[in-house]
Amino acid sequence: MADLLVVGSVALDSVETPFGKVQEVLGGSATFFSYSASFLTQVRLVATVGQDFPEEHMKLLRDRGVDVRGLRVASGKTFRWTGAYGYDLNEAKTLDTQLNVFADFRPELDDAQARTPYLFLANIDPELQLAVLEQMRGRPKLVALDTMNFWIRGKRDALVRVLREVDVVTINDGEARQLADEPNLIKAARKIAALGPRTVVIKRGEYGALLLDGDAFFVVPAFPLESVFDPTGAGDTFAGGFMGYVAFRDRTDAATLRRAMVYGSVMASFTVEDFSLNRLARLDTRDIDRRYKEFEDLIRLERD
Ligand code: AMP
Repeated sequence: MADLLVVGSVALDSVETPFGKVQEVLGGSATFFSYSASFLTQVRLVATVGQDFPEEHMKLLRDRGVDVRGLRVASGKTFRWTGAYGYDLNEAKTLDTQLNVFADFRPELDDAQARTPYLFLANIDPELQLAVLEQMRGRPKLVALDTMNFWIRGKRDALVRVLREVDVVTINDGEARQLADEPNLIKAARKIAALGPRTVVIKRGEYGALLLDGDAFFVVPAFPLESVFDPTGAGDTFAGGFMGYVAFRDRTDAATLRRAMVYGSVMASFTVEDFSLNRLARLDTRDIDRRYKEFEDLIRLERD
């Protein structure tokens, strides 16, 4: 088992779906990622929040064993995101993004953080992703990155620069098309790989996820669920399951990446069952093992 470092957003989210509405609940790319990955390996979180960030949220992360020493409390307000979904839960509509303390955040890694063998650059300003990558001492065994339309539109040059340096990209389908400027997802995956990463993971919401690893494609379905309340965080939770498993196995071979795709799908299937981190907060490892087995049955070709 090896350690995993993540930099990304820690947020207060306001979200509306056809099934309900929440105001200023715990969210953020690094939050969902670290919470999800913490079921599989030891996670260190690097991010910033404002003085308005509720102590109970810190406690939730700490109680899960997430190392929050890199979560800086700055003067100012916590990052806020407001989003909405229609009946098609696959596409979030961003209504408002307030960077707040992230606008002046300059991450500074301590020695242990800088030597972490697995690194996830969760969705945040690509210049911050670069700043973290540049401080790593020795090349991590695997570096993965996630991003979204906000940064593809607003900071494309910095994003292209950091993409050259990473091994894996996780991105959702709409954003993959936007980044590659290509409507066909298979071609889009290849175009993204041509920017640097040898592995591209495209998350497709209820349609599952696609992996391009070198020249080989692999797909996993989403776990079939009848009650999906809020897809917010599903992508980051998927990435947490994926990277958490890779770090836990401390291997990056093709078979490990394929199993990591299943762990990503399993973890994401829990997040969407409730708002914020509510479902993940009620989870234990037996739930994960059970759903992993159900997943194996789901995709098995031969029946005994
Ligand atoms: P996802 O896993 O793709 O559903 O990501 C949802 C999370 O992304 C939410 O909890 C938001 O707080 C966070 N988020 C939204 N916009 C941004 C942004 N521009 N930069 C960083 N994080 C964001």
